Amino acid sequence: MSNQNSCSKCEKKGIILLQHGALCQNHFLSYFEEKVFKTINKYNLLNRDDKICIAASGGKDSLTVLYLTKKYLEEKKISKENLFALVIDEGINNYREHTLSDLKEFCNNYDIPLKVVTNKEEFGYTLDEAYPIINKETKKKPCNICGVWRRYLLNKYARQFGATKIITGHNLDDEAQAVLMNIFKANTKLSAGLGPISGTKEQDLFVQRVKPLYFCTEKETRLYTVLKGFKVDFTECPYAADGFRANIRDMLNDFENKYKGTKQSIINSFLAMLPLLKEQARGESYAPPTRCTICTEPANKDVCNACVLKEELKNA
Ligand code: SF4
Ligand SMILES: [Zn+2]
Ligand SMILES: [Zn+2]
Repeated sequence: MSNQNSCSKCEKKGIILLQHGALCQNHFLSYFEEKVFKTINKYNLLNRDDKICIAASGGKDSLTVLYLTKKYLEEKKISKENLFALVIDEGINNYREHTLSDLKEFCNNYDIPLKVVTNKEEFGYTLDEAYPIINKETKKKPCNICGVWRRYLLNKYARQFGATKIITGHNLDDEAQAVLMNIFKANTKLSAGLGPISGTKEQDLFVQRVKPLYFCTEKETRLYTVLKGFKVDFTECPYAADGFRANIRDMLNDFENKYKGTKQSIINSFLAMLPLLKEQARGESYAPPTRCTICTEPANKDVCNACVLKEELKNA
């Protein structure tokens, strides 16, 4: 006899309640995997000849996306020679070393080559060292510095290692937060770069970024990781609580608790507007990226944002 706690597809006990009913463990696992594979197919996130770089951190999203990308390639009989993981070690004490060791173990177990790039080697400073110095002069927050350097290093090294796509573990919660952050800060132009796939193939200086977990919520991804038994340290980055994003996240969670489906609705509205945002961005003073005069990486101005930060350290 079925009741509201039992799976909507079989008689087993439901372990998660979704918008269309509860699901048991097995039906949840297949629902989740199908959703990810459908996203890859619907948005053409991967092609057979892509060389894929997975931007990994060792957190739950990155392990999930690593595991499922490998599974997808196996199902499509695409050689896994085309796949590698890249992690940026920002140098965040009491945090990154834990996720890094989980990641190394995971990649070892699943036979995925892993490349590690560090802020320290590239910029001469860990994030922990750089942040107080840069902040003193500019009031920049750790996440701003971290984000600029991470994006820079991912693109630079993914490209150097021959990648044609960068897969990130962004989930639906991350994306809904980013959409709202851009609205709250009147940065709507930046939203043109969001969506399941970013950039175009023609911009060969920037490797295209794709997000297979685009429609998976934080809660679903967390449950998937636990059910699969991935070894994940759920500790948050010590800088995360300070950020603007953390406030948006808490507000969105509060709304979601009161009004189920809020996050999904934000994404649906955003996807309906995305073509217009992209068109507007193309029309407005589009200038193809040039090369940074200091490091020769792609930049939208003479000096790229990563080098601007490096210069701020030099001048401090
Ligand atoms: S929370 Fe901020 S500082 Fe920490 S890893 Fe994320 S972006 Fe970097
Ligand atoms: Zn079931
Ligand atoms: Zn530069």
